[in-house]
Amino acid sequence: MENKELKKIIDPLICWYQISARELPWRKEPTAYGVWVSEIMLQQTRVEAVKEYYIRFMNQLPTIKDLAEVSQEKLLKLWQGLGYYNRAKNMQKAAIEVMEKYHGKLPMSYEALLKLKGIGEYTAGAICSIAFGLPEAAVDGNVLRVMTRLTVDDRDIMTKEVKKDFSHEIKEILQHTNPSIFNQALMELGATICLPNGLPKCGICPLKQYCQAYKENRMMDFPYKAAKKPRKIENRIMFFILFENKVALRKRTEKGLLSNLWELPNILSEENISPFQQLLNWGILSGKVEPLGKAKHIFTHIQWNMEGYFVKVNNLQKQQQDFVWVTEEEMQKYYALPSAFRHYIKKGWEEGKKEHEF
Ligand code: SF4
Repeated sequence: MENKELKKIIDPLICWYQISARELPWRKEPTAYGVWVSEIMLQQTRVEAVKEYYIRFMNQLPTIKDLAEVSQEKLLKLWQGLGYYNRAKNMQKAAIEVMEKYHGKLPMSYEALLKLKGIGEYTAGAICSIAFGLPEAAVDGNVLRVMTRLTVDDRDIMTKEVKKDFSHEIKEILQHTNPSIFNQALMELGATICLPNGLPKCGICPLKQYCQAYKENRMMDFPYKAAKKPRKIENRIMFFILFENKVALRKRTEKGLLSNLWELPNILSEENISPFQQLLNWGILSGKVEPLGKAKHIFTHIQWNMEGYFVKVNNLQKQQQDFVWVTEEEMQKYYALPSAFRHYIKKGWEEGKKEHEF
C-alpha cells in the first residue's frame, strides 16, 4: 500500500479511538515519566496486570527524583511479579542520569532519550509522541501486526529492516495528524481488535475497508515470523530450607539472569551432587526433608526444569555466610524474589507445618 493510501486510515482510526479507547491510569493527562514507566511495565505484561503495579509505583515514586533516590530493595519490591528486573534497574540508572544531565526532566528529543539506559526505539518513540506530541513512530508487536495486515507485508517482522520501514511509513503519516493520539490509537487497535491469537475482530474494525489482508481473507498469514531458536534447558534443584521458622535466601550474582535478586538456594542438577550431599556442603547435617515435586519456569531464552526439596533444619553445624534467614512476613515485605521461585515458596511455607524425618 502506498503511503498516500495509508494516510486514509488516519480519520477512521482516530474517530474509533476517541469513542472506544479503554480508560487506563497512564492515559489520563500523560506525562513523559508516566509514559516511560507504563511502557516499560507493559513490555511482556498484560494491561490488566500492569494497572495496579503502575498506580502503586507512581504513588510511591511520583517523580524521576524519587526513582533516582529509592533503594534498590524497595524498587525491586515494587517491581516484584512483573519480571525482567533489569528493566527496573535500568530505569533507575536512567533516572539518575536524567537528574544529573536534565534537571530531573526527560529530554524532549528522540536521540537523547535513546541514549538513556533501557530506553529503546519503541519507548523513545512512545514518550516523544504521546507525551511531547512529536512525530516519532512507536513500533511494537501490536503495531507491526496491524501494519503487516493492512499492507500484506510478508517479510519477517523480527528483522530490523521491517521495523525500520514501518517506522518510516508511520513517521510520514504523523506529519498529517496528532502523533500522540494516532500512535495510541494504532497501539489500541492492535491490542483490542487486530488481535494476535485467534481471529482478529475484523467485523468491528474501523480499518477494514483499507485492509488488504481482510480483502484477501488472509489475516492469519500476517505477521510472519521466522522460527525461533529453541530455548536452552537448565535442570535445577531448589531448596526451601527452614530453620527456626525462617527460610534461607541468598543473593544472586551481579551479572546474568536475575542478577542481584534474592533466591531460594539452588543448584544445577548436572553438577552431579545429590540434594543430600549439597545440604551437607552447606553444613546442614540433620533435619527433616520432603520432596516438593517438579515445576517449570520459562524465561525468554532459558527454561528451568526444577525439582524442589523442603528441608527443616534442627541445628546448623556451621555459620552460614551465603544465606540470610527471614520470616514469611519479612520475605513478603522486604525481599523481592522472582516469580520463578513462587511455586516452591508457596509449597515450602505450606510444608513448614508438617514433619518428616530423614
Ligand atoms: Fe486487523 Fe482485521 Fe482490521 Fe485488518 S481488518 S486491521 S486484519 S482487525
